[in-house]
Amino acid sequence: MEKDISFKILIIFCICILSACNNKSSKQVKMNNQDFDTYQNQFIEQLWSYYPDWATNIGYHKNDSMMIIPNDEARNAQKEFAINSLNKLHLFEFKSLNNSQKIDYHLIENQLNKILWMIDEEKSYQWDPSQYNVSGLIAVMLSENYAPIEKRLHDIHLRMKKIPSYYEAAKQNIKNPVVILTDLAKNQNIGGLTTFEKDLKDSIQNSNLLPEKKQEILLEISNTVAAIQDYVKFLDTLSNPTPRDFRLGSDLYEKKFEFDIQSIYTAQQIYDSALARKSYLHEQMYKITTQLWPQYFGSKPIPDDKLKAIREMIDTLSVNHVTPAEYQDAIAAQLPQLIAFIKKKNLLYIDESKPLIVRREPAYMAGVSIASISAPGPYDKSGNTYYNVGNIENLTAELAESHLREYNHYIMQILNIHEAIPGHYTQLVYANQNPSLVKSIFANGAMIEGWAVYTEQMMLENGYGNNEPEMWLMWYKWHLRTVCNTILDYSVHVNGMTEDEALHLLMDEAFQQKAEALGKWTRVSVSSVQLMSYYTGYKEIHDLREQIKQKLGSQFDLKSFHEKFLSFGNAPVKYIKEEML
Ligand code: ZN
Ligand code: ZN
Repeated sequence: MEKDISFKILIIFCICILSACNNKSSKQVKMNNQDFDTYQNQFIEQLWSYYPDWATNIGYHKNDSMMIIPNDEARNAQKEFAINSLNKLHLFEFKSLNNSQKIDYHLIENQLNKILWMIDEEKSYQWDPSQYNVSGLIAVMLSENYAPIEKRLHDIHLRMKKIPSYYEAAKQNIKNPVVILTDLAKNQNIGGLTTFEKDLKDSIQNSNLLPEKKQEILLEISNTVAAIQDYVKFLDTLSNPTPRDFRLGSDLYEKKFEFDIQSIYTAQQIYDSALARKSYLHEQMYKITTQLWPQYFGSKPIPDDKLKAIREMIDTLSVNHVTPAEYQDAIAAQLPQLIAFIKKKNLLYIDESKPLIVRREPAYMAGVSIASISAPGPYDKSGNTYYNVGNIENLTAELAESHLREYNHYIMQILNIHEAIPGHYTQLVYANQNPSLVKSIFANGAMIEGWAVYTEQMMLENGYGNNEPEMWLMWYKWHLRTVCNTILDYSVHVNGMTEDEALHLLMDEAFQQKAEALGKWTRVSVSSVQLMSYYTGYKEIHDLREQIKQKLGSQFDLKSFHEKFLSFGNAPVKYIKEEML
């Protein structure tokens, strides 16, 4: 699933390196491993003072009342922090660090270089008006029960006092913004007003604050609402004769890919690989379709157009699904079966001491996806992990049927593998045993998503689903989405793919419904690179396994490979590879 794992954070800060990592500075002094741990802790504390919103989102609550005004002064301070921290980092002798510290060193260096790149090169603070939105974080502060509501309201009050200056700085920053991001900014800022006008007001009324204090915060709400409305009006009336293209372009794209994905491959290489993979998947799918055809269609002739034949077979198989009322129970019932299969096949150790809690998706997550994992953040590792299941029963019969066909008998099993066991949930349990805070904070999305995608194939390869051709066909279809996301993202942002071409790719070649394809077009218009993470991570993990298999020959053991791989935590695959090879 896409965007389906959240660490109570939605921050897309990831890290990467610009320069070679172990560039030797002449001033290097001998420092021991403990010094490095001290450095890391200080670095993280400082990071949270320059990026308090990020801190709050990730579950660090000391700076909840702080709000950074996004002006030149703040950006210069962030740059200075990045440069100073890099200088201190480079005082350590890379080769004297232990293996876990070496990875942390890379991660910190990447993050700091990314900060500099974002401010000096990417400059999205100028062209992306949707960066400026104050309601999301306050919604999080109201919905997460990490402190008494009175304390949270106090912090929110202090933040709100700065909101008018925040939007003034935003207005100063914006130059030739991307049109679709301007529209997004307007919609999201207006959408966020209910957080203040409804949720915050309700929380104030229900709190034990003194009446005067309640009055004070209520007054601040009207200032906030006015500032948001003023920002929206500014965007509405902005003269923008030469807007920036929403496409990132090759140079920025490759660099962003380097920072966010941290792959051994370039974006172009991943794109080429995804194109080849798409052809391979089509071939395999057609093979299975011809094999199954007589069983499902009798003597009806198979269409000449291979893609049409595959689509007909998929549509027919998709009718096999549970009812809306059975949906959540069907998901929960499958988890013990997955664990039993993994044990029987000896695929990896599953720690059952902290079970995954399957629950109905909470209201504030409102129909984002059919299933998602909510994982505790790095500051709350002992918190519960939830498997959120979307509420299908409230949908119209038609919509529910369309969802259920999409998440049919076969896909539901693959979804459970991906989201839960041995995908995201299992990976998370392993990652939480790794003490490194740096690896949790700068968790590598490509590794995390790549692992979940990898496990789908790995389970099937080991006989999950009894090697039924139907199961394989449906997995190929599911996997094709991952592959086509990669092709789409790169094609749109680098090669100038049009909307019509994108819809053809998604609907005709990846067998998606129109609604899904249109949603994907919107997503690729307002984001970049993130859609590459699934396939890149998958490919890297799969390639690494094959390399190690080759190296070890008959000594290769799948279970040890998996356990060793996961023991490094949320690190980029390329660094895990360095340690494993
Ligand atoms: Zn996922
Ligand atoms: Zn049906």
